Amino acid sequence: MGLKLFNTLSRSVQEFAPLDPAGKNVGMYCCGPTVYDFAHIGNWRTFVFADLVRRYLEFKGHTVTHVMNITDIEDKIIKGVREAKTTLREFTGKYETAFLEDLKTLNCREPHQKPRATEHIPEIISLIEKLLARGVAYKAADGSVYFSIEKYRGCGCNYGQLLKLNFDEMRAGERVKSDEYAKESVADFALWKALAPEDGDIFWPSPFGEGRPGWHIECSAMSMKILGASFDLHLGGEDLIFPHHEDEIAQSEGATGKPFVKYWLHGAFLLVEGKKMSKSLGNFFTLRDLLAKGFTGREIRYLLLTAHYRETFNFTIEGLQGARTALARIDECVSKLRELAGQNTGQLQTDDSLVSKFAAALDEDLNISRAWAAVFEWVRETNLWYNPHSHDETLVARVTRAKVAANKLAAWEKVDSVLGIGVKTEVEVPAEIIAFANARAEAKKTRDFKKSDAIRDELKAKGWTIEDTPKGPKLKKI
Ligand SMILES: [Zn+2]
Repeated sequence: MGLKLFNTLSRSVQEFAPLDPAGKNVGMYCCGPTVYDFAHIGNWRTFVFADLVRRYLEFKGHTVTHVMNITDIEDKIIKGVREAKTTLREFTGKYETAFLEDLKTLNCREPHQKPRATEHIPEIISLIEKLLARGVAYKAADGSVYFSIEKYRGCGCNYGQLLKLNFDEMRAGERVKSDEYAKESVADFALWKALAPEDGDIFWPSPFGEGRPGWHIECSAMSMKILGASFDLHLGGEDLIFPHHEDEIAQSEGATGKPFVKYWLHGAFLLVEGKKMSKSLGNFFTLRDLLAKGFTGREIRYLLLTAHYRETFNFTIEGLQGARTALARIDECVSKLRELAGQNTGQLQTDDSLVSKFAAALDEDLNISRAWAAVFEWVRETNLWYNPHSHDETLVARVTRAKVAANKLAAWEKVDSVLGIGVKTEVEVPAEIIAFANARAEAKKTRDFKKSDAIRDELKAKGWTIEDTPKGPKLKKI
């Protein structure tokens, strides 16, 4: 079955067919972070969504080239550098490192290429020169270069491919210099910003004079350099549709005359505790804030993956607690299978119902709710199938069951290559807790059960349980 995706460009669900005539290679670009602060949970929803798309394409046998830019020069960054009284590289480097660590914490596959805007100034300049040569850009009196929407439309190009714009209300030639603006102020936007006093020493020489690139041109230059003038997929949060993505199309198609991107995918907005995130409401969370509350990257990833990417999602702390319970059910099921499978290596069965139901769901514009339903139906069925009391079963039956368990694990691993939640991160046991556990073992050895019980209670108070298993005591975080 073929994958269908909602393309913002056509405003409809379309069969996904890559530009590669062999149907194998896929070029995918996702707008990366602007490294001026720690990414918040709304940003992370988009990156986890991009990871889902990439993983699912790989699951379907495509070879994906995943590109994610690092915006390390932009209006907010200039302000941040000025306020922190530091250098551009030092300021952005700190947040870039944090971002890449967080990406790992959420078990997102690392993009194959992570181009930085500041390392692509020559490509940006040459793209602006092409736009000037084609007459769709012009130099303003202050030395900045702007994209002319009027000239672009005048040569039969369509500005407003991703959303409808009302050009009657627009005054020709009006300009906007800042990187962010609303659709009410559709206007010629800046490609190159002439050096302003507040930019300090952050500028580059160019044929248009000293200055720095606008935000939108960065993505056009870097995506086309790596993926070519036309590529398959461009992703981002829905807040980027206008002006960022619309401007990317205009700059790219204005320079090359070729269609820029075949499928545009946009992830919906995220609310926290039912409200728009804001620092004053106390519902603004970076990933690090949530980790500090004791949640794991895996729990956060799971919760972000429970909602369909095109639906506004209400992220709550209660939801994270639910994620913990749901993951525990999966973990219990998988660990029972591992125990039963022992050393057997499983084979993925061609008619495996978990894998086929899972894929059928994701083929339908990534219907993740139906995909999770298939997973939990499998957990229920597997728990029913697993029978720990059959000690009297024959050796043959036991061997068969071990093989079935191994095959079931193979199916789970295939599904989890997309979900990326299966590997439970081992919690490191602090030395203090190990010392307690050793003292308890000692007490048990000398049959001092009163003492061993007291230590067990103390461990519980510290958030750990101790379980006596045939292989010795096992420590678990509550
Ligand atoms: Zn972008």
